[in-house]
Amino acid sequence: MVAEVTMPLISNFDPWRSGLCTCPCKLTFNPYTGCDHQCLYCYATSYIPNFKEVHPKKGCLDMLRREAIKLNGETLSLCNSSDPYPKMEASEGLTRRCLEILAGCSCKIQIITKSNLVARDADLLCRIPATVALTITTDNEFIAQILEPNAPTPSKRIQAAQDLQKAGVPVSIRIDPLIPHINDQPQKLIKTLANIGIKHITCSTYKAKPDNWNRLCQALPKVMEQLKPLYFGEGEKVGGSVLLPGEYRYKLFKDIRATVLAQGMQFGVCREALHGLSTATCDGSWLMPKRSD
Ligand code: SF4
Repeated sequence: MVAEVTMPLISNFDPWRSGLCTCPCKLTFNPYTGCDHQCLYCYATSYIPNFKEVHPKKGCLDMLRREAIKLNGETLSLCNSSDPYPKMEASEGLTRRCLEILAGCSCKIQIITKSNLVARDADLLCRIPATVALTITTDNEFIAQILEPNAPTPSKRIQAAQDLQKAGVPVSIRIDPLIPHINDQPQKLIKTLANIGIKHITCSTYKAKPDNWNRLCQALPKVMEQLKPLYFGEGEKVGGSVLLPGEYRYKLFKDIRATVLAQGMQFGVCREALHGLSTATCDGSWLMPKRSD
């Protein structure tokens, strides 16, 4: 089955300018609808039906050719409500063909993914102004298998980060989402990342929505029972989500930031309304090379 495209392919990122977000202005598009990593904490499942079924967007390449020609140096983010490297990308190559088109246009590319498949496209990404934000939620393979059952393992993602950097593609790492008592002590992971030359870490905490909360409770009942009062007693409701209490989040980020800075890296906080804690552009886009050829 192929998904129909009826809206423009490229749109503004966060057109509502959420008060939680400190990202610089950018554009975004998704070559695929749906995502098959099946992360338990996924937010998109609450507003996109059958989200774990992945479909290439019908007409995606033609639309991109038409729309991308009008770009004038903007940053294009792939993707913000799916992953540009679902399993089928290995054979489909849709994201790769999108990158081939964009390589001939006036834009900068920011890839956001959980897949090591992105390293396949290092030959293209090193020729255009591009950065890759790889999400590595934890370096504990057992926990990762529970949280992200269908995504590539953390060790494969660390290897991909190394391969990309070796090819000249700057990489930032997203440790996202941080969930108390599950993956909120990423100090060892941060040191590993510093040792492979990563220069920027972005962190964000888990935001509870009814469906992702239920999935986490089914998989990790004891720890989620412990977290219940923190979220639903002391937590903060923002839009349709419940966040950890502000003071709790502030302390968590301050501690992680200290480790990140001690390793000589920059730190960004994503969608937390804690603007002062980031030491560089929150999404790692400051790493974008200033190439024009
Ligand atoms: S990678 Fe992102 S979009 Fe895909 S399932 Fe995980 S959280 Fe959802």
